[in-house]
Amino acid sequence: QAKSGGRNKYACYQPEQTERIEQWVRLEPALRNALESEQFEVYYQPQIDALTGKISGAEALLRWNHPTEGLISPGQFIPILEEIGLMTRVGNWVLEQAVKQALVWRQSGFPNFRIAVNIAGPQILSGGLVELVERLLKDSHLTRDLLELEIVETMVMQHANAAQPVLQRLRELGVRIALDDFGTGYSSLSYLKMLPVQKVKIDQSLVRDIPEDPNDEAIARAVIALSHSLNLSVCAEGVETYEQQAFLRRENCDQLQGYLISRPMSVAQMNLWLQQQISIAL
Ligand code: C2E
Ligand code: MG
Ligand code: MG
Ligand code: MG
Repeated sequence: QAKSGGRNKYACYQPEQTERIEQWVRLEPALRNALESEQFEVYYQPQIDALTGKISGAEALLRWNHPTEGLISPGQFIPILEEIGLMTRVGNWVLEQAVKQALVWRQSGFPNFRIAVNIAGPQILSGGLVELVERLLKDSHLTRDLLELEIVETMVMQHANAAQPVLQRLRELGVRIALDDFGTGYSSLSYLKMLPVQKVKIDQSLVRDIPEDPNDEAIARAVIALSHSLNLSVCAEGVETYEQQAFLRRENCDQLQGYLISRPMSVAQMNLWLQQQISIAL
């Protein structure tokens, strides 16, 4: 409908805009005290070693248990959090929760459990992230390279001067840095060389149409080969089918993440899932 273009183009976009504003107005007040009201929850989505199929760790994903609207996904409220200046507080809370939880899992049969945490632009730019990470590592005795911070390159590109030294210091602390959503936006290859990253996450939009779309296959193959030649490891996200999994394994992708392996889960669900992994291995 919106694609019809021409004179109606603007009119067609309007309802969507209005909807977004309405949603914003509706959610914003409740969002302001969601942290204090303990309405946030961290979910975890397993990442597996593509070769062995064994769990290598998980990505922490924020959820909001809205008192009347139920579970709300981050795509809907993270932009608001950033806008109202609360992203750093909430993001740092996620980081702290995730590191503590990873420690529990490391001590319950998964000694090499690696935890990946998304880091928003404001967290990097507002200062204090390096100190927080330092403190968390010290308190938790988490082996440094078992913490992985996922950053989106558009943010780093927009604020290269401010972000670069922070990333550099994080890298010097020994934590790993992954470039999230690779293959969307600009994805300039030169950034791969410039940024202190150890991993690339192939965006799910590139995985989705494998094997139907030969172009996506070619791009995924190229990203994997390029990353490997730069000594970076590669995780594919959004893996939903056995065909995609088989393709990515064939192309030597290092890790897989997606609904095929598991949806993001609460801690309780994840505990059950991990128990199953142990009994499968036995
Ligand atoms: P992301 O970091 O790229 O996370 C992957 C997203 O893909 C998650 O959406 C996950 O649920 C979804 N996903 C995983 N496997 C599949 C699959 O097989 N099919 C499909 N269709 N989707 C899959 P989610 O949890 O809604 O999060 C969306 C985005 O919100 C994240 O994208 C990340 O950019 C942001 N986000 C989530 N939690 C945090 C957080 O604690 N801090 C920050 N700064 N951003 C966060
Ligand atoms: Mg991520
Ligand atoms: Mg991603
Ligand atoms: Mg994404």
